[in-house]
Amino acid sequence: MAKKIDPAALPQHTPMMVQYLAIKADHPDKLVFYRMGDFYELFYDDAVKAAKLLDITLTTRGQSAGQPIRMCGIPYHACEGYLAKLVKLGESVAIAEQVGDVATSKGPVERKVVKVVTPGTLTDAALLDDKQENRLLALVPFKGRLGMAWLSLASGDFALMDTDVEKLGSELERLRPAEVLVADDTDLVMLNRLTIPVRKLAPWQFDPQTAERNLARHFSTHDLAGFGVTEPMLAVGGAGALLEYVRTTQGGALPALAGLRVEHATQYIELDAATRRNLEITETIRGEAAPTLFSLLDNCATGMGSRLLGHWLHHPLRKHSRILERQQAIAALLDSGAHADLHAILDSVADVERIAGRIALASARPRDLSSLRDSLAQLPALIAALPEAPFFTGIAHALAPDAAIHQLLTNAILPEPSVLLREGGVIADGYSGDLDELRGIQNDCGAYLAQMEARERERTGISTLRVEYNRVAGFYIEITNSFLGQVPDDYRRRQTMKNAERYITPELKTFEDKALSAQDRALALEKQLFEGVLAQLQAHLAALRLAGQALATVDVLATLAGHAALRGYVAPEFVDETRIDIEAGRHPVVEAQIDDFIPNGVCFGLARKLLLITGPNMGGKSTYMRQVALIVLLAHIGSFVPATRAVIGKVDRIFTRIGASDDLAGGRSTFMVEMTETANILNNAGEHSLVLMDEVGRGTSTFDGLALAWSIAKQLIEKNRAYTLFATHYFELTRLALDYQVVANVHLDAVEHKDRIVFLHAVQEGPASQSYGIAVAQLAGVPRDAIRLAKKKLVELEQGSATNGMQADLFAAPPVSEMSEPETHPVLEALQALDPDSMTPRAALDALYALHAQLLKN
Ligand code: ADP
Repeated sequence: MAKKIDPAALPQHTPMMVQYLAIKADHPDKLVFYRMGDFYELFYDDAVKAAKLLDITLTTRGQSAGQPIRMCGIPYHACEGYLAKLVKLGESVAIAEQVGDVATSKGPVERKVVKVVTPGTLTDAALLDDKQENRLLALVPFKGRLGMAWLSLASGDFALMDTDVEKLGSELERLRPAEVLVADDTDLVMLNRLTIPVRKLAPWQFDPQTAERNLARHFSTHDLAGFGVTEPMLAVGGAGALLEYVRTTQGGALPALAGLRVEHATQYIELDAATRRNLEITETIRGEAAPTLFSLLDNCATGMGSRLLGHWLHHPLRKHSRILERQQAIAALLDSGAHADLHAILDSVADVERIAGRIALASARPRDLSSLRDSLAQLPALIAALPEAPFFTGIAHALAPDAAIHQLLTNAILPEPSVLLREGGVIADGYSGDLDELRGIQNDCGAYLAQMEARERERTGISTLRVEYNRVAGFYIEITNSFLGQVPDDYRRRQTMKNAERYITPELKTFEDKALSAQDRALALEKQLFEGVLAQLQAHLAALRLAGQALATVDVLATLAGHAALRGYVAPEFVDETRIDIEAGRHPVVEAQIDDFIPNGVCFGLARKLLLITGPNMGGKSTYMRQVALIVLLAHIGSFVPATRAVIGKVDRIFTRIGASDDLAGGRSTFMVEMTETANILNNAGEHSLVLMDEVGRGTSTFDGLALAWSIAKQLIEKNRAYTLFATHYFELTRLALDYQVVANVHLDAVEHKDRIVFLHAVQEGPASQSYGIAVAQLAGVPRDAIRLAKKKLVELEQGSATNGMQADLFAAPPVSEMSEPETHPVLEALQALDPDSMTPRAALDALYALHAQLLKN
């Protein structure tokens, strides 16, 4: 919390510090940027924190209330870079500008917080990642349920959803908010572990009745029924809190939002948090941006396209009819070969969606409008390049917004306007008579000065006399030192240079006043005209947003078509049966990284529901399982898939339990994470879920692990009846295929060639025959002595388990700590004592009878 201002101490502070402390008191949890001339200054604790975060110098200056003031400063013109850095680190910044008139104010000029920059409410192009949506999310948990409202200020997307509290993890992974809002009495333990900033607001800000009223007022509707809020939703309270939060950050102005959407969990194939991570959709398990499915596919020409592709990948659709619309659009692009042309056009299209967002907030810059105009000019060509397909009819419609928008921008904005409005040079000639006149005065300047120069040269007889202008000195007549004797009386000295003197005359002064005031007036008028253009564009926001969405959609479809063509993907077929049948499937990401990827199929149906996958480490089990999930995922975003044929039935969820990951920050060991994820799967997977289980039970002792893996597999077969890929080192599990008809064994194989091991990567029916663990260890460079010892121990262990009456567990040698010397058996001892080479066949047969009899006796 911020220091409270101590009123008794205030008189001791300088007036400026009193003003600063009052502003700071309103924004205790933010860094306050306090504008002073060309700098934003930070004071006291803010200065210490910012200096550290930004790696800038901390100084102390002067004193207030008897204490030196710690401060650091950021140049006003370079503040964007610093803001970006702070926001990335999760900080929020309140920007206090000078709003009073410096000339007329007594004491410190009035300052006000005009804007609060927070991670979730960014709209500036410079501060946003153009490939990622920037969302602000409000959470309202209540009795096991969870209301969620989220808003992307840059795109205007505003959505609501109610779900179960236990889905919080997967929803955070899906929406990836930049900032989260909750009531300060919320006790969601998970929030303490988040790395994204969580703002705690007063609980009344989440009041549902007030929220509904404010939202309806904002959208000018009677209630929220038209948006699909037909029964009470927890999320509405969150949406109200969001709206207020945004209003305060934007200095009181609320942007026009696109509307409100209600999302339903059943719209999309459900992916829990672990699955989104394990499948490496937009981030690798290590948290890197590549190689992922997204990094592979993202050849989008625009940021809008990249963001939509990321969204699609995290939101696979369930409804086959909607998927097929996209798929048919891709097929039409491939047939016509239009995808390349479309991309070529899209290359020169700006981020219309984000520009529309900035227009909504009246924060668009001159170059936003010129690039919007130039992008709109590309739309007819884009429409012409679209192939025939029902899906493109709607797209073409959205790509033809009112021609008046383009006309307005063409008339109003110069072909290449300045970057900053305050520099002028933004509004086109001919748009405003008044502006043209003021500019005329400035343009006439050159001619006037030349004319005056000629006149004055003649009058004074000084041939080198020059009449000129610069920003610092204004207008002047310059005379070199050798002619100073000829300077007329009406010249007044203005400036002394090394070799010359500069003068002004009453005539030149009059001209200067006129020219400079014309310049000031022109700048003020340009600002006003620009704001007028922004106001006119407000009326077209909905059309611009639609055009932005259509552009993004075309971009993604063209991208997916490009991949299909380049990599030989096929259109998956959808059926309403219990079936997943993939012929010669490939892992899209691994395939792109290596030369000879071996394709593998998979076949699930009512009579084949669980595949037990055995095979050596490095054999390709994880790759195989993930590829099945990725193909199913790609199919459900409407994409073509890496296979020669794919027939896919009903799928409602994808679950994965892959690899060992510690959640130390969350206080859970590897095994605990493994079991938590497994519990989630067993509790939620149904007969249309796709479940990937990799090496479950590995995190504990052999027998524990084996017992658990066994019971988990049985549960999946009998109760969940999900489509399951179950990779295991426990060879015992392969016997499940004998007990259950729906279980099939498949394996990946390797061959030992001399001292080397070669992985075949081809999935075959039946269980594996060998584990090759020691061969893999050798490949990895484990020293020869250790390998030799391991081989010896393996023989002993295999003998031991044989004498125990246990089937040799080729795939899970128990940890060394659990190894005990195998018990000896009298029959074995007798057998060992024999010397087969020196026995006659008759003696051997006798010995066999004797051993057999002894065994039966025991
Ligand atoms: P496992 O899970 O059995 O230990 P992985 O799936 O991690 O094995 O695969 C190990 C490596 O083998 C991968 O990194 C990849 O380079 C290669 N690989 C896997 N599957 C294939 C395949 N189908 N074709 C070619 N190489 C593959």
